Amino acid sequence: MNMTSLPALDALEKTELIETDAVVIGAGPCGLFAVFELGLLDIKAHVIDILDRPGGQCAELYPEKPIYDVPALPVVSGQELTDRLMEQIKPFAPVFHFSERIDALSRTGDGRFRLTSDAGTEFLAKVIVVAAGGGSFTPKRPPLEGIEAYEGKSVFYSVRKMETMRGRDVVIVGGGDSALDWTLNLAPIAKSLTLVHRRDEFRAAPHSVEKMRKLVAEASVRLLIGQVTTLEGEAGQLSSLVVKTAGGPERVPCNAMLPFFGLTMKLGPVADWGLNLHENLIHVDTERFESSEKGIFAIGDINWYPGKLKLILSGFHEAALMAQAAHKVVYPGKKLLFQYTTSSSSLQKKLGVK
Ligand code: FAD
Repeated sequence: MNMTSLPALDALEKTELIETDAVVIGAGPCGLFAVFELGLLDIKAHVIDILDRPGGQCAELYPEKPIYDVPALPVVSGQELTDRLMEQIKPFAPVFHFSERIDALSRTGDGRFRLTSDAGTEFLAKVIVVAAGGGSFTPKRPPLEGIEAYEGKSVFYSVRKMETMRGRDVVIVGGGDSALDWTLNLAPIAKSLTLVHRRDEFRAAPHSVEKMRKLVAEASVRLLIGQVTTLEGEAGQLSSLVVKTAGGPERVPCNAMLPFFGLTMKLGPVADWGLNLHENLIHVDTERFESSEKGIFAIGDINWYPGKLKLILSGFHEAALMAQAAHKVVYPGKKLLFQYTTSSSSLQKKLGVK
């Protein structure tokens, strides 16, 4: 396929306005459980996360490590906890927006909130639940001269729409789960796909590594062991890059490079939303877990109150009380009856078990 027939890489960015009861910022364990507690009270949620998958720290930093202090689960890995939470919130059909960061937040004339993501998605919501944990996961930039000029044009740290990679010479750099997952996903649609990793050992899940090696054996993917040293192109558009290998430098055609070098956590845009902060954490009360702005709640690692413990179980408790308070904002004047899931047929109907 000829490059000139391809749409610009950023042409498929969206601009749409989504109206919803609640927007949950962050799909970590606390954001996921918030969907459950809100759902029981008929509050529909959209969930946004910078990462390309749910689970926050549990899935990104310690998917295989055992957690021993989640009530009633004597041992559960970070990934299993995420999977179980995803299963638990299924009845409430939350809408996920992955690989998007909420950048701006403001109040509209009718008391709702307008949120804008870095992909151009706009939300109008009655309540906001900030479950942003330690803040934004930010991709680590490879130490390559001039890379900034290519970022967002032909160097990407996440893939928002697979279609943008169709027919391109794609180079993926890294040896972890993201690098391997995207190698497997993009190999069928890319014109060529080269995976570059500094050594012939991978940190990714063994079954992904096995699948990748099969694609390499079939010549659907090229594996290069070495390090990218030079980017070549102009006006932000890559045409090739040079990889230093044991056999000498190799020039690889490339018009989309995806480096997956891990993530660091920074507070990010949360700091600019005008909320009262305590040492970079959102100051909340312990009855409603509401911030200094009515209708904006904060739960999990991102909030602070006297005695706060950054534990998953604390975030779960906070989600339950937050939902009771959010109900008053979403349904003003409507009485809320306290009910148990064991005995309430109406809650069981919502959960799809009745
Ligand atoms: P996070 O898990 O941090 O998730 C927040 C999410 O918000 C992230 O995915 C982030 O990408 C997203 N986000 C942030 N800003 C934005 C934005 N502007 N737009 C869109 N998305 C955004 N806790 C325990 O209880 N028991 C343990 O044994 C335990 N072990 C741990 C071991 C390790 C190695 C680590 C690092 C932590 C451990 N923790 C443990 C702590 C636990 O992981 C955290 O308390 C928990 O993950 C907090 O959940 P959260 O949902 O508040 O935030």
